[in-house]
Amino acid sequence: MIRFLVSAAIAVSVALPAQVLADEVVVYSARNEHLIKPLFDRYTQQTGVEISYITDKEGPLLQRLKAEGKRTPADMLITVDAGNLWHAAESGVLASVDSPVLDANVPANLRDPQKRWFGLSERARTIVYSSERVTPADLSTYEDLADPKWQGRLCLRTSKKVYNQSLVATLIARHGEARAEEIVRGWVANLATAPFSNDTKTMEAVAAGQCDVAIVNTYYFGRLQKKDPSIGLALFWPNQDSSGVHINVSGAGITQHAKHRDAAVKLLEWLSSDEAQHDFAGLNMEYPVNPTVEPAELVAAWGTFKADELNVAEAGRLQADAIRLMDRAGYR
Ligand code: FE
Repeated sequence: MIRFLVSAAIAVSVALPAQVLADEVVVYSARNEHLIKPLFDRYTQQTGVEISYITDKEGPLLQRLKAEGKRTPADMLITVDAGNLWHAAESGVLASVDSPVLDANVPANLRDPQKRWFGLSERARTIVYSSERVTPADLSTYEDLADPKWQGRLCLRTSKKVYNQSLVATLIARHGEARAEEIVRGWVANLATAPFSNDTKTMEAVAAGQCDVAIVNTYYFGRLQKKDPSIGLALFWPNQDSSGVHINVSGAGITQHAKHRDAAVKLLEWLSSDEAQHDFAGLNMEYPVNPTVEPAELVAAWGTFKADELNVAEAGRLQADAIRLMDRAGYR
């Protein structure tokens, strides 16, 4: 017993200075473990920097960061949707980062104008249609899905999901509240059935013939396509003559009270680099934010499109307005 304690003490006294010197980064992530762990492992292998992380839903992570305040062990917050990133920034848990590397790797419309968060993958929220009952020539814009010609043919995910709140927020930014409300009322009038709890169920309803068109994130389409290549659904890129396809990001920021700020900034820079971007986006069938990096093969096969150039932060700024508008319009 005594021998054990002695040797343990020696081990500690030897290990301690190294541990203090070695870099470490603590991450709170609302992005799923299987999407971040392979990259963290590679980074640790290359740099020796240890990364510890917890994953949870956005809400609990933000609550935790706020409750921990100065005592938080977290150096970095990773989450999805600019609406959520905006909320985290507004609640004061993220610090500004001045980094020429991030400025170069992340396009200006995919990061916070105040540099408190940076997009790391881009997701497109687009139209999916039944390749059996719809010809692409019938489709044009998100706005057109409010046209009575789609009556009883549209399926949507619930308005409670931040993805749809962000989409409607950009409609407000583009058209103003009155016109945006008209569009959302038109969607509601065209619904084939009550909104679904997730994008996959929404698409499955199209595949099953319950409706003909829907609005979803492309990576969910990719997952279905992988499972069943003959599912009878296809993607359509709307608004190509106007605002472009609605895009959003998953992204990250450095916490206000980071204990390993420099190491965390380096990790964030690496995640935006050529080296990490292909996998960071590719593991979830999303698009790299770094314009020098090609998307994964399956994603590239969906073709190229004109994307909305509005700063994704607008989705956060107008989120509360979007939620009230959807409620008024009867979008549940
Ligand atoms: Fe998602």
